[in-house]
Amino acid sequence: MLAASWQHSSLKFSALLAQRIANPYLMLVAQCSIPVHGSRNALGFAAPYTDAIALKFRINLSWRDGLGYALAAAVLLAGGAHALAKDPIPLPRPRPPGANASPMIPLPPLRPSIPPTVETPELPVPSACQLRLTADIAIVEPLPPIIAANGCGIDDPVRLNAVMSKDNVRIAVTPAATLRCTTAEAIAHWVREDVAPIAATLGAPLGGVANFDSYECRGRNRVVGAMLSEHGKGNAIDIRSLTLANGKSYELTDMHVDRQARERLKASACARFTTVLGPASDGFHENHVHVDLAERRSGYRLCQWAVRDAAEIIPLPRERPAEAPPREP
Ligand SMILES: [Zn+2]
Repeated sequence: MLAASWQHSSLKFSALLAQRIANPYLMLVAQCSIPVHGSRNALGFAAPYTDAIALKFRINLSWRDGLGYALAAAVLLAGGAHALAKDPIPLPRPRPPGANASPMIPLPPLRPSIPPTVETPELPVPSACQLRLTADIAIVEPLPPIIAANGCGIDDPVRLNAVMSKDNVRIAVTPAATLRCTTAEAIAHWVREDVAPIAATLGAPLGGVANFDSYECRGRNRVVGAMLSEHGKGNAIDIRSLTLANGKSYELTDMHVDRQARERLKASACARFTTVLGPASDGFHENHVHVDLAERRSGYRLCQWAVRDAAEIIPLPRERPAEAPPREP
C-alpha cells in the first residue's frame, strides 16, 4: 500500500522533477509534498497524531489543489534559489598566511586616574619660635603638644637634632633632645655662639654634644616627692661631654680638661641660663652640667658649677680602722 501510494505521488510530480531535477531545492519540495497530497493511507502509517493533520489536508485540498500549492511553492523556492545563485552571500576573505592566530585587540585608552579625595589633617601652624629656628641655626622637628600628669608637659615641644655652627658645620645632639622650643632655641644659640668656639680651642672643631637628659617627667634630682624638675617642663638639658671633629670627647666636669675652657663654658652658661648646676652644687651633678630656663619671681639666678683642678682635691681622711686603739679623750 505504501509503495503504491509513493509511486502514485511520484508520478504526479514527474513533469516538475524533470524540469527542475538539477535544482536540489525543488527536489526537497517534491519529496515533502508527497505526503501532503497523497492518500490517507500514505499518512496513516506515520503516527496517530499526524493522522488528523493528514485528514485535514485530504478534506480541504484536492490533489489538484495540493499540486497547485506545491507548484506555487516550487516556483517561489526556485525563484529564491535563482536569486541566491545570482547574488551569493559573500564569504569572509581567508586570512592571509602569516597573520597572527590571535591578533592583538587594542585596549581602549586608560581613563585618567582620579586621585581619591582624602582629607589631610591640617598641619599645626608653626610657632614664632619654630619659625626663628631656621635650618642654618638648628635642625629641629616640631612635635605635638605633650600633656602629662603632675604638671609635666610641653606646649610647644621640638626635637633638637643638631645645631649648626657659624661655619655651617653640623653639631649633632646625641641623642636628640626633646625640649620646649624656646629652651631649644637658647641651647642652639649657646652651642653655636659660645660652646663651639670654646671647644675649638681644645684641638678641633666641635662635632657633637652628649645629651644626658632632656624632657622627663620627674621630681628634682629624681627624688620622689620633690618639686617638679624643669626637665618635666622641657626647660632643661643635662650635658655630659663635647665631642670634637677629631673624635676626642671631653667631659665638662673632667678636671683634666683645660681649665680655662671649662671656666669660659661656665661663664657663658650662667650668662644665658637662669640655672646652672655642676660639680659641688648639690651632689647630683658631679658628672654632668645641668642648665635650664626656670623663671623665678625675683629674677634670681643659680650658677653653681665648681671648676676645679685635680690639685685642689683635698683627700678625705681614711676611715679609722676598727682595730685601732680608742682615742684619748
Ligand atoms: Zn638636669
